[in-house]
Amino acid sequence: MSRQRVFTADKLREECGVFGISGNEDAAAHTALGLHALQHRGQEAAGIVSFDGRLFHSHRALGLVGDHFSNEAVIGALPGHAAIGHVRYSTAGAPLLRNVQPLFADFAFGGLALGHNGNLTNALVLRRQLVEQGCLFQSTSDTEVIIHLIARSRQPTVIERLIDALSQVQGAYALVALSADALYGVRDPLGIRPLVIGELDGAPILASETCALDIMGARFVRDVEPGEVVSATLSGIESIKPFAMPPRRFCIFEYVYFARPDSAVEGQSVYEVRKRIGAELAREAPAPADIVIPVPDSGVPAAIGYAQAANLPFELGLIRNHYVGRTFIEPSDRIRHLGVRLKHNANRSTVAGRRVVLVDDSIVRGTTSTKIVAMVRNAGATEVHMRVASPPTIHSCFYGVDTPERSQLLAAQNNLEAMARIIGVDSLGFLSLDGMYRAVGGAPRDAFQPQYCDACFSGDYPTLLEDFGHGGSADQLSLMLEER
Ligand code: SF4
Repeated sequence: MSRQRVFTADKLREECGVFGISGNEDAAAHTALGLHALQHRGQEAAGIVSFDGRLFHSHRALGLVGDHFSNEAVIGALPGHAAIGHVRYSTAGAPLLRNVQPLFADFAFGGLALGHNGNLTNALVLRRQLVEQGCLFQSTSDTEVIIHLIARSRQPTVIERLIDALSQVQGAYALVALSADALYGVRDPLGIRPLVIGELDGAPILASETCALDIMGARFVRDVEPGEVVSATLSGIESIKPFAMPPRRFCIFEYVYFARPDSAVEGQSVYEVRKRIGAELAREAPAPADIVIPVPDSGVPAAIGYAQAANLPFELGLIRNHYVGRTFIEPSDRIRHLGVRLKHNANRSTVAGRRVVLVDDSIVRGTTSTKIVAMVRNAGATEVHMRVASPPTIHSCFYGVDTPERSQLLAAQNNLEAMARIIGVDSLGFLSLDGMYRAVGGAPRDAFQPQYCDACFSGDYPTLLEDFGHGGSADQLSLMLEER
């Protein structure tokens, strides 16, 4: 049976981006800009909810931000000085409009819109309980569980209800919420997903990444801290930390692939970290080659770092067609395979007659790598040595990132030699987990209490995974998923 962890054909899992602004008369237009900068975090759907001081207004659509929110009529129908927005990617089945965020509900205290980046790992358990208690769900999104928990809370204020609801959920969440009185931002106690605070002419902003601030000339203020709840009202920004505070476990894969290289997350430039990852990779896995070429675009910074550390020329040996979406997040095998051919072409003038180091950010199924290697060989490369700027991906993610089930992860099923044979390279090397920790800076990896979430490489999940009948053992979980 396939790994189906949801109630219908929809999957709960998503990789998303969130944005919110308050105190700006063009709140919806700025939110559309912010979402445009965050488009890489989700390309299947987008939504904006605004508040005009009296009413909430909502527009949600399947497709890209630019397809739906660059139109004056749409933005004009989202009036008000406060707005939140969301970009979304769903991983399986037809994307449904009812799952597009921000979700909005009318509560006893008034309206509340909610946008969520991440994934709850006890949403199924909570949902079953809520359905038994009479709740009617409108979507298959795990985020709606939070809506129902807020509705059932007996706490007196919006923020206390929000905290009450979140104290019952497990997993990863970076949230933006908008009520009549305030704009809220929350990060889960482990801080798995990013969320930053910015400011534009005195208007507070919340965004998944700093690139969403840069696009409108806003100033970066600081990260929302793990477990922190911030609320922006007319009287300013308030911060509370109402949850127990375990050691932080930010998603290390944000540095490898998800975040935009011009963003700074957790205080570090993503671009610089990626270059350091490439340099570590060159030290750990040198290759007898003439040139270093990246798999564009996400492999570029690591390839620059590799080339500099190895003292080899960096060349553009693969050219990417920018009008096709990212392979990793295309929804079906059929399209994924097609996407490889549509997306890249080898640059014969740089690779012909040369021994090539090909640098990519990660290998998931290996289908992209296999086709790209064949392309580079066909263009005349005499040797192809593949170097991967992350450790082997051998476990699924349960925190809001689409990864195939374990049986489809190349590195979970094959040793290094077999992978090299399948991909068709002369040699293959991955960055070690310790090398990755060196690249992101700070202390060496603590095997008993890792400083980041690195579960897709290590199997060390930082939360309970209640929906999967699992208390923390990755091996048990993987076995169980394969049986489902
Ligand atoms: Fe990130 Fe991997 Fe952890 Fe998922 S499992 S949150 S992708 S490090």
